[in-house]
Amino acid sequence: MLYTLIHEPSRLGLRVLGEFCLRKEKMNYLIFLLSVSATWSLAEQPNILFIFTDDHAPHAIGAYGSNLIQTPHLDRIAKEGMTFERCYVTNSICAPSRAVILSGRHSFHNGQMTNGDVFDGSQMTFPKLLRKSGYETALIGKWHLKSDPTGFDRYEVLYGQGSYYNPRMKKNGKEVKHVGYTTDIITDLSLKWLKQERDPEKPFMLMSQHKAPHGRWEPALRHLGALDEVEIPEPKTLFDDYAGRTSSAREHKMGILEHLGDKRLMLQYSSQFTPEQFKVFDGYFRPRNQAFLAKREAMSKHELTRWHFQRWIRNYLLCTKAVDENVGRLLKYLDESGLAENTVVIYSSDQGFYLGDHGWFDKRWMYELSYRMPLLVRWPGQVEPKSKNRDLTSNLDFAQTFLDLAGAQADPKMQGSSLVPLLKRNKPKDWRKSLYYHYHEGGGHGVARHEGVKTARHKLIHFFDKSEWELFDLKNDPDEMNSVYGKPEYAKVKSKLLQELKRLKKEYEVPAIVYESHKEIQAERNKGG
Ligand code: CA
Repeated sequence: MLYTLIHEPSRLGLRVLGEFCLRKEKMNYLIFLLSVSATWSLAEQPNILFIFTDDHAPHAIGAYGSNLIQTPHLDRIAKEGMTFERCYVTNSICAPSRAVILSGRHSFHNGQMTNGDVFDGSQMTFPKLLRKSGYETALIGKWHLKSDPTGFDRYEVLYGQGSYYNPRMKKNGKEVKHVGYTTDIITDLSLKWLKQERDPEKPFMLMSQHKAPHGRWEPALRHLGALDEVEIPEPKTLFDDYAGRTSSAREHKMGILEHLGDKRLMLQYSSQFTPEQFKVFDGYFRPRNQAFLAKREAMSKHELTRWHFQRWIRNYLLCTKAVDENVGRLLKYLDESGLAENTVVIYSSDQGFYLGDHGWFDKRWMYELSYRMPLLVRWPGQVEPKSKNRDLTSNLDFAQTFLDLAGAQADPKMQGSSLVPLLKRNKPKDWRKSLYYHYHEGGGHGVARHEGVKTARHKLIHFFDKSEWELFDLKNDPDEMNSVYGKPEYAKVKSKLLQELKRLKKEYEVPAIVYESHKEIQAERNKGG
């Protein structure tokens, strides 16, 4: 507050002082107090910096206990704020997760059920409501929702998935080309907006969103070889045989060895490099690729899996290393500018990811490691440093949280709950005890459509196209290796979870059409315009 008084008097105090002078003759003291209180509350609207990545699993972040890489700048947010240990996505895939965050509504209500859908930008979203409440809003980086962004005073977004080098971006409707490493460029543009382009009279909400560490994993030139001397620990489930689950897990197409493929392993590059960049990038990978190809025939399946894992995970982790460095740049600017004190910094990613766990490299399943999202929040003076939260939370809550931070009203159609009470260690007594999950995009990487319910200890999954069920006891089986569905000793738990699933479907108004084929869903949607 002292900072606001000194540095931003136009947002505080002047109006109060003026009103005081004008009315001092016959001032009603109560009205004055109310005026002070209203102005005070407006002035306290904190800035919101939302740093968001794509496919960044919590177990690749130091604050979540990663043994794979160090992330000092992300860990700083955790040290100075709160780590949410049980934040889950409603539908574990890229574009749908983003649409849930914007709209605060489940995929079947916001219309973005799969990556193939086009986001309906005419619907209510939290940036639109923040603008109404006096915020300046900006979106810089990955968008991935096909339609043009709405609700932002300024946007500059990657086309589609974007590339790791030399990205083409769309800036308020016009194409702009950049040269350099995309993770750095997104931060450069974010800093430029913060320093020079925003309106300093207004509180801001900036979404600074990275492509990284989404495939195909191309590290920055400065990081090539940085993990060559490190043997990354293999996950204990790297050689999972899926024996304890239904046919769904066995029919996956996301195996580190079988499906990652040579292309994705950097034997072919996806970025359009400049000649100078190509010289360094290709100069690093080509001799290593040639050495691998020369011995590939003689390698056993186990050896090949291990080689693929090491090659891939190093590239993935190096992409996150650039993210971490760039988070550090943003935090440094907030410190230097004095903005840190009144800015809520949030770090998250659209879902988790399998980092060789279960032998996989992708997401989509309701199994823990791609279901869980990272969520770190720093809010000076409000959130206790080094605090941890283990309540069930979700990306469905983000929109209402941002609006609550701003003191703005949420849209009545939003389906989550503000996390602000949890941030202030003031958990409502009726906080949710379960979460509803629904994966709509059947087929991608061999993952069948499914829905389910999760509680603090158990998880029930229904692969409804296959009429297969799985039930996991996460206390006894945290790696979800053995479904106990059908085991007599779990009959009571199963019955309770089935009831809870039914209740959640009613609460969230899950329409019957979502269980029909994709073709029928499209026809129904077209009918509705
Ligand atoms: Ca993603």
